[in-house]
Amino acid sequence: MQEFTQAHTGTLSGFVEPERFSVGKSYRELHLHDISPHRGELPAGIIWPISTEEVSNILAWTYRNDIPVTPWGVGTSTEGNPVPTRGGLVMDLSKMDRVLEVRPQDLQADVQPGVLRKELNRQTGRYGLFFPPDPGADATIGGMIANNASGVQTIKYGATRDYVLRLSVVLPHGEVIQTGCAARKSSSGYDLTRLFVGSEGTLGVITEATLRLAGIPAYHLAVTVVFPDLRSASEAVAMIIGSGLEPAALELLTPGLIGLMNREKGLGLVEQPSLFCEFHGISNITLKETSDLAKEICENCGATDFRHGFEEGERKDLWRARHEAWETIHRAHPNRETLIVDAAVPISKYPEMTVFSQLLVDERNVSGYVFGHAGDGNLHVVMAADPNNADEWSKLEEINDRIVRRAVKLGGTCTGEHGVGIGKRKFMELEHGRSYELMKRIKDLLDPKGLMNPGKIFM
Ligand SMILES: Cc1cc2nc3c(=O)[nH]c(=O)nc-3n(C[C@H](O)[C@H](O)[C@H](O)COP(=O)(O)OP(=O)(O)OC[C@H]3O[C@@H](n4cnc5c(N)ncnc54)[C@H](O)[C@@H]3O)c2cc1C
Repeated sequence: MQEFTQAHTGTLSGFVEPERFSVGKSYRELHLHDISPHRGELPAGIIWPISTEEVSNILAWTYRNDIPVTPWGVGTSTEGNPVPTRGGLVMDLSKMDRVLEVRPQDLQADVQPGVLRKELNRQTGRYGLFFPPDPGADATIGGMIANNASGVQTIKYGATRDYVLRLSVVLPHGEVIQTGCAARKSSSGYDLTRLFVGSEGTLGVITEATLRLAGIPAYHLAVTVVFPDLRSASEAVAMIIGSGLEPAALELLTPGLIGLMNREKGLGLVEQPSLFCEFHGISNITLKETSDLAKEICENCGATDFRHGFEEGERKDLWRARHEAWETIHRAHPNRETLIVDAAVPISKYPEMTVFSQLLVDERNVSGYVFGHAGDGNLHVVMAADPNNADEWSKLEEINDRIVRRAVKLGGTCTGEHGVGIGKRKFMELEHGRSYELMKRIKDLLDPKGLMNPGKIFM
């Protein structure tokens, strides 16, 4: 469906204030793509609800009228997750952006889905608390819940999934339900909250969430470690974790990416396989002990350089550079799009995966950069090419395919954190077998008309 009739437009604009519904071309085009090359079908209109009641009224009507609906946060996904594939209505949740309540004594906050991660942390920071999942991008909480996003600190603090206690969800036909509770633990029946976490807007619209928070760590220590080769850097990962050191971040970087970071940000880093680590602690004394042990372990694994004691500004620059890896790669390859590998494996298999991936990139001679959240066994390869050049792009697809197949064979997954969207649908059967059928049956149960974010997760 590419255009709404006048009757559709009249009804939809009646659900919200006039400025919160648009059939303007520029708004529709803005909601046609995330950061991936995936393109869908131009939506017929965009609506910005501000309450659960509005979402419910809109969905009850779209359901009756067979209109596809695609929820939208701020569109920072990497797999086409919020891209409308059958036109229809895009429901942009970014105006539901209130932190409803912070309860510092419970370490909890109630939020609307359009709250941005950094704004939430600004507000909870007043109480010495933060929401740890950190995908780098300033995403909405609703988008993070829907994708089960995570990031550099997942190794210590966990993924978004671990911070969602309670949800309000509007089901595809407009019914409002509450899942979970505000207790830290519960064994009460099926875990419906976890069903909606990672469902990518295919089962309903999240309109409110109760989140767990964590205390802001008092002391930080950043460390960079240089290794002679990729295998020894990757092998050190399991050794560091196995020693009980509990890093707050443990990232692998390879020379190609470090080179780009050096050129763009003047970091002066050694351009060899490296680990960036961060440790959080209750005092500088404990961090000094941690750092001494980490140094010993890394040197036993062949490390040739171990740097710590970064000034606060330097530490922030280092992590900013790591967070901006994708942007840096993108800027280094103007007029190219990126295909992002997001496989994850058990950490014992991480060395095999990183070496295999780098070999593929080198053999196929593509512009590709291997790095990842090593502590979680999460491997990224960001590859840049022109999607309109079939020869160039098919090489990237082939590499992605081979890495995912290897990861699944090793007990891993096609996506550690970005979600399935459009790009990873083709691997779902391979990874989940008969469970994929059960996922389809759950989808059919909640959305028998297939109207919620169609074309995602399922082919
Ligand atoms: C530079 C860069 C780096 C990134 N690094 C990481 C990383 O390290 N880790 C990581 O996990 N991700 C990463 N991402 C991906 C992205 O930031 C996350 O997936 C994020 O969670 C998307 O949030 P969003 O608000 O942009 O949601 P959108 O992209 O707008 O939507 C995401 C999905 O959620 C659905 N959705 C949105 N709101 C709702 C709602 N209220 N109810 C139901 N469904 C909803 C959409 O339909 C879609 O399927 C990165 C992105 C960029 C641009």
